[in-house]
Amino acid sequence: MKRFTCSGCSLLCDDIMVKSDGLFISKVIGACLKGKERFDQVSAQNRIINPMIRTDGELKEVSWDEAIEKATEIFKNSLNPLLYGFSNVSCEAQEAGIKLAQKINGFIDSNASICQGKFLKRARDLGINLTTITEIINKGDLIILWGANPAETIPRLLNKVLFSRGKFRMTGREIKTLVIIDPIKTASFRVMGVRDLPLIVEPNKDIDLIRMLKEECCSADIIPSEGVAGVDMDDLKRLLLHLTGAENGVIILGQGVIQPHLDYDLIEELLELLQMINERQEKGRISLLLMGGHFNMAGFDHVALSSFGAFGKLEFKHNQIVKTDDTLVSKIEKEDFDCSLIVGTDPISHLPHSLSSKMAKKPLILIDNHITATSHVAEVVLPTSITGIESSGLAYRLDQVPIELHKIINPPNNLPSDEGLLTQLYESLNKGGSD
Ligand code: SF4
Repeated sequence: MKRFTCSGCSLLCDDIMVKSDGLFISKVIGACLKGKERFDQVSAQNRIINPMIRTDGELKEVSWDEAIEKATEIFKNSLNPLLYGFSNVSCEAQEAGIKLAQKINGFIDSNASICQGKFLKRARDLGINLTTITEIINKGDLIILWGANPAETIPRLLNKVLFSRGKFRMTGREIKTLVIIDPIKTASFRVMGVRDLPLIVEPNKDIDLIRMLKEECCSADIIPSEGVAGVDMDDLKRLLLHLTGAENGVIILGQGVIQPHLDYDLIEELLELLQMINERQEKGRISLLLMGGHFNMAGFDHVALSSFGAFGKLEFKHNQIVKTDDTLVSKIEKEDFDCSLIVGTDPISHLPHSLSSKMAKKPLILIDNHITATSHVAEVVLPTSITGIESSGLAYRLDQVPIELHKIINPPNNLPSDEGLLTQLYESLNKGGSD
């Protein structure tokens, strides 16, 4: 058996033992259920192994030449393409996607922009510490899950950061306090012990909690006796004590706090609170960890930054990068695109109907390895190998650490990697001298 990294989620566990003869995988040891599902995708019933083009309203299997030609034709007829996804592919594929976007004068964005990317950019602007898994294992004494349910989304995260023994401490779980702030009692609450602090906030009242904590950090005002946002006074006092007394605390932020709100900016206020606490902290600090779901959600921002010095979304005109205030959502809302290339994601399921219906109206090219709601509306479907199992590449773990993924077996039908396919599309556009 050999050790491999799992690409089932953004934790990229590098301790998975796999038995394989190079053709089939016969045993996987150490992966959680979600990781096992990733390995099962190799032979899943909804796997796509041939390219397809929509003809008379139905997707029909075609040769690779026909599929590439059709995709190239759509790009050549487009003045304003939209490229989106790129969180379930390697950094090399992200780079190839950006190169293609430049070639076709497109707007390119990743799943991170409607997820953790919003936090990351603001946190960096404010100079807030981002921490690593290793640092939490070795030095952490306070872990706050805010709107995050890792027990179900990143199943081995708590095993690693909460239950493991640190290198610089002779103690582990017994000195780590877990605080969970969530409107519902998620599966993650099950790991809580007597000294931990479960806080059930009223739905959409996180902002009241943050504002109260900000006031308490700045002045000696008493906490209201009736509590705030459904959390009672004693628990609020305990929370404040933990926040201001931890030596190495981390707030792990999940999807629950990322949702946009019309009349306030939760992200901004939460980061301000963190800044305030860290200014007042005398012996320690609180840092941040963002819980992205897809295995390389963090990678796109790194690639965009190193290729064009810009963070996240990129827009090209006349094959040059231009400044843009647009986002994926604003582009779709205004219908400011005439075709789309979707890579490794399913926006037709994930976006609200008001947006997905607009996306479905324009020609859509999909690069993915299994059937989704998006493949049901796509004009062209181009299947690829599964990164981390059937092809290699670099990915950034959720704590921004780069990890190399390795190929274990050959893909069915000799499917290309995402990088290989995106490069092929780029080269196909070069044919005939069009630029
Ligand atoms: S936690 Fe994520 S990376 Fe680790 S084994 Fe499970 S799915 Fe794979």
